[in-house]
Amino acid sequence: MRVNAHAAPAAGEPLTPTTIERRAVGANDVLIEIEYAGICHSDIHTVRGEWGPRPFPLVPGHEVVGIVREVGAGVTTHRVGERVGVGVLVNSCGRCTSCLRGDEQYCLEGTVEAYASTDRDGTTTQGGYSTHVVVDAGYVLHVPDGIEPSTVAPLLCAGITTYSPLRHWGAGPGKQVAVVGLGGLGHMAVKLAHAMGAEVTVLSQSLKKQEDGLRLGADAYFATSDPDTFTQLAGRFDLIVNTVSASIDVDAYLSLLAVDGALVNVGAPPEPLSVNAMTLIGRRRTFAGSSIGGIRETQEMLDFCAEHGLGADVEVIAAETVNEAYERVLASDVRYRFVIDASTLR
Ligand code: NAP
Ligand code: ZN
Repeated sequence: MRVNAHAAPAAGEPLTPTTIERRAVGANDVLIEIEYAGICHSDIHTVRGEWGPRPFPLVPGHEVVGIVREVGAGVTTHRVGERVGVGVLVNSCGRCTSCLRGDEQYCLEGTVEAYASTDRDGTTTQGGYSTHVVVDAGYVLHVPDGIEPSTVAPLLCAGITTYSPLRHWGAGPGKQVAVVGLGGLGHMAVKLAHAMGAEVTVLSQSLKKQEDGLRLGADAYFATSDPDTFTQLAGRFDLIVNTVSASIDVDAYLSLLAVDGALVNVGAPPEPLSVNAMTLIGRRRTFAGSSIGGIRETQEMLDFCAEHGLGADVEVIAAETVNEAYERVLASDVRYRFVIDASTLR
């Protein structure tokens, strides 16, 4: 099946309209007509070549919401007409200890991601900036009724990537949680941590978005450009989720952790980060990382969002403005996720 898409022809080049081939619907596959696809900063790192060489032309997009148009003969979990979501994970081995535990994102044989991955049939995956996609049913999520679909798309990456560490490190009542960077991931981290009952502080470069941060559910908001912030908040937090797409001064943020606190990096800057062991040792602090979340946990997150009335704050755009949207993300001028209306690709 030949479908319309937006692709980067080569690393660092602007995205342009193209067509790509989607595989025939296999016995365990679902054909999805895409309604919306979110723009994640990972798409930008990837197409700019910041994470190393990738196969081009490359169609980014791993925050997809759409309607099931066809299911394979062996699919019992999804039906035609149903609204579904697809995130980063589109396949994994299903047999290793990570997969068996439901942590497919840590598949020991390597996960297959929505784009720029070699699928288990040897083809290269192409992402969601497209009109249709074919995905193994085991990686297709059910979208609960009652959430506006454009606001659901970003949950498939930004939502689960922040939900998973918040749960893993026990965000909840009585916990002090800080979120570094108020972009796509950051604004979901604020909403989710607040809904989990934690006390939430935003650490942003400036106070420009303070009003938004408080509206999203933060209890406090500080500018990291003000050195006073680091003295005032020293030793305060149980958990800090760092969503910044660039490298940060890790020791400065570690110093904000209480005894046994954890700084969890979900931001994935291309440059290495450095840590002074003493900052960790002095208060038994942890410096950790976390990758998206497993399929079961992603469904749990979607259900949690439906229950709490949460979606992303989105700006819906036409596909032809995707390059401008990238520039605005790079300038930290996103409020708080760009979402492509896939009908503009038809
Ligand atoms: P985003 O919307 O661009 O948000 C990043 C935020 O970081 C910005 O809004 C800005 O917030 C802050 N920031 C940007 N540049 C900065 C700098 N030089 N210094 C300090 N702060 C800066 O990006 P996103 O889509 O949320 O993604 C964030 C990062 O997470 C990316 O690196 C992405 O690849 C990664 N990611 C990882 C996973 C995973 O599984 N671990 C999943 C998805 C994305 P303020 O304006 O508030 O300062
Ligand atoms: Zn993403």
